[in-house]
Amino acid sequence: MDRDSQASLDFFMKMLRIRAVNPRMGGEGEGERAQFLEGFMKDEGLSVTRVDVKDDESPGAVRPNLSAKLEGKNRARNLWFISHMDTVPEGSRDLWDTDPFEPTVRDGKIIARGSEDNGQSLVASLFALLTLKKLEVPLPFNVGVWFVADEEFSSNYGIKQLLKRGLFKKNDLVVVPDAGSPKGTDIEIAEKGLLWMKVTTKGKQVHASLPKKGLNAHRVGMRLALDLDTLLNGKYRRRNKLFDYPVSTFEPTKKEANVGNVNTVPGLDVFYFDCRVLPEYRLDDVVHDVRLKIRQFEKRYGASISYEEVELEPAGPATSQKSEVAVLLGRAISRISNRRPRFVGIGGQTVGNLFRREGIPTAVWSTIDDVPHEPNEYSRITNLVNDTKVFAALPLLANPSMKR
Ligand SMILES: [Zn+2]
Repeated sequence: MDRDSQASLDFFMKMLRIRAVNPRMGGEGEGERAQFLEGFMKDEGLSVTRVDVKDDESPGAVRPNLSAKLEGKNRARNLWFISHMDTVPEGSRDLWDTDPFEPTVRDGKIIARGSEDNGQSLVASLFALLTLKKLEVPLPFNVGVWFVADEEFSSNYGIKQLLKRGLFKKNDLVVVPDAGSPKGTDIEIAEKGLLWMKVTTKGKQVHASLPKKGLNAHRVGMRLALDLDTLLNGKYRRRNKLFDYPVSTFEPTKKEANVGNVNTVPGLDVFYFDCRVLPEYRLDDVVHDVRLKIRQFEKRYGASISYEEVELEPAGPATSQKSEVAVLLGRAISRISNRRPRFVGIGGQTVGNLFRREGIPTAVWSTIDDVPHEPNEYSRITNLVNDTKVFAALPLLANPSMKR
């Protein structure tokens, strides 16, 4: 291994020893890890911007976000690599073969909580930046990194705050290396909109031998869930082959328990749907259809039915395959990895979607085996080294005449 790769590996191991479990998941937060990163970046001669977001419920009462950048020819434009410092907890310790917070190198893998999600990309982007700094090559635009807080929970103290504060521009190029594929070929440029809905039906609870005296909320709820299932899956049928799962999905999922005994007609019924909607549809239209169906059911059955959004995250417009960030990333992947990249969409959501919603073209990419949040989570050293090279090459492959 060359000296720079060894240095990034050593640094990676040190970082993984500093816990940064999201405080909303019972952890200590990003504080100590951020301090370590800030110190290192300053020692390397980078000037660091730190954005502390107040969070009284977290140890230290603030959530740190860090950034550093190198200036390019066009100082009004930035290429950003965005990764997150926080991790999920280790989960059940019994399922780990090693200590999740004492990184272990085995078979070319670094095993630790947060190694793949999102440590590998954080370290790769930082060392790409340091390489560019050392090379002293002219850059077409500013190139920088952001290490953000709170991605694993809500991004309320991370990216959402940074976007609110206007720290990104419409003409910036954004790479979010927080999802990917084992061969590093998949450039994600589109995500589905997400809607989690909760439907509560209130009827009248009575003895099961006298059902006419009451109103069986469970029966109304079941019929409603089936009707919504048919309606939504039947109406929103468009296909988009960018996605491996090329259609929108509407799945009845959670069901809350009702009565504790068999001989009571339930007066209350609660069910949930998980909906993942292609970006060509508006979530508002889905919600409108659901509300309409609910009104019909209220009239038909005389029940009172309420609708709540547990989660509503509309999809931003897909990033064009011809956008500069997508083109440059594709170019860097083909040159460095000798593989032909392909563009994909995913059903999950990354912070990439938040940028797309602001109209900022964003590519989500990394080389990972896709084991986030699992016990024995790992990062392959070869992926760390490869992705560092791809990130460093990306701005150098820009054609000066290329405009957005
Ligand atoms: Zn992540």
